[in-house]
Amino acid sequence: MNRETQEQKLKHLLAYVSAHSPYYRKVFREHGVDIDSIVSIADLVKLPFTSKDDLAAANDDFLCVPKSRIADYVTTSGTLSDPVAFYLTDSDIERLAINESDSFRCAGGSEHDIYQLMTTIDRRFMAGLAYWMGARRMGAGMIRVGPGAPFLQWESIQRFSPTVIIAIPSFIPRLIDYAQANGIDYNASSVKSVICIGEPVRNADFTYNGLGKRITSQWNVKLYSTYASTEMGAAFTECEEGKGGHLNEDLLILEVVDEAGQTVKDGELGEVVISTLGVEGMPMLRYKTGDLCHVYYATCGCGRKSPRLGPVVGRKQQMIKFKGTTIFPPALFDVLDMVKEIDLYQVVVSKNEYGNDDVAILIPMALDTQIFREMLHSLFKSRLRVTPSFQFITAEELSLRIYKQEKRKPEKLIYI
Ligand SMILES: [Zn+2]
Repeated sequence: MNRETQEQKLKHLLAYVSAHSPYYRKVFREHGVDIDSIVSIADLVKLPFTSKDDLAAANDDFLCVPKSRIADYVTTSGTLSDPVAFYLTDSDIERLAINESDSFRCAGGSEHDIYQLMTTIDRRFMAGLAYWMGARRMGAGMIRVGPGAPFLQWESIQRFSPTVIIAIPSFIPRLIDYAQANGIDYNASSVKSVICIGEPVRNADFTYNGLGKRITSQWNVKLYSTYASTEMGAAFTECEEGKGGHLNEDLLILEVVDEAGQTVKDGELGEVVISTLGVEGMPMLRYKTGDLCHVYYATCGCGRKSPRLGPVVGRKQQMIKFKGTTIFPPALFDVLDMVKEIDLYQVVVSKNEYGNDDVAILIPMALDTQIFREMLHSLFKSRLRVTPSFQFITAEELSLRIYKQEKRKPEKLIYI
């Protein structure tokens, strides 16, 4: 895909939103934007950013089609705020299918693969639907087991021989534990790889992080990171090189910017900003995701020339100011994931009376010994230089807090 085509698509996007999007019409009017002056990707700087707050405040004003044309209603996960509605037309669903089929192929998939889906496909969740459509489009098979249920997962693996698992990676240690406890020879299973959704499995230097190491040291599977969001309606997926998720240039324009909104250089960290191409229902223009990633522009070892994003280092809004240092939740998860004994945890962030953050970590009571506390303390001290407080509660209660019925993903992090 060359730049000219992407620029043609940008022209279509600008003409489309200025004709159909109440939100962008208003923004263009207020900022005096002349869309005819935007002819290249570099000209994008003439447009203001769209923030999460803009989207939340004017949600339905982003819709470009009559409601009668909406085919699917989804919402964002809303980790930090109320979920935002996203409306998909029939062609947007088709775009999702194209994205996911491209994404599966990037991760080494083909029509010969059988995918086992360990995420939800309903609950107003976009990704589950996209996976199913993508597999179908590519000509592969899919077993829709959904989240949790280790017994049913293994029964399906043994019965239908899937080659690829699609899962939130922190679920995989539970799956391994279950196999071990029940005498299942998981290394002899049909599963070759795992498409990881929602959580990073690599450090910024692309080595496996605590979770990635924990999985691959026990189970002979290849992990593929993905990074996606409802707002993008597309995914950045790793190829077999494992050196960052590839941009799908047919579907998104990517910018990675610093605090001042300037594009960062190759290898640098910045906020991911996307403009969606080919979206009919709710197109996004220079949408600031809040996600901080390193960006790489050099040609990948796989031969693809598309830019790549490293793992999400953190979310801008999730930055924790704790005991004089700044940390992001993934750094806390990474330390906890290194500890084999801990299979359940929840990080609780709260504001103290001085306006700084306090961090408490909930852990199963069975682990509460003096030695274990001291080990955790020194592990955190050596990895992050600060130690959160630990609270030990029963495994049942912790499980109830993490796996809430009304939530689509386990709640590893809460703000109170
Ligand atoms: Zn590659």
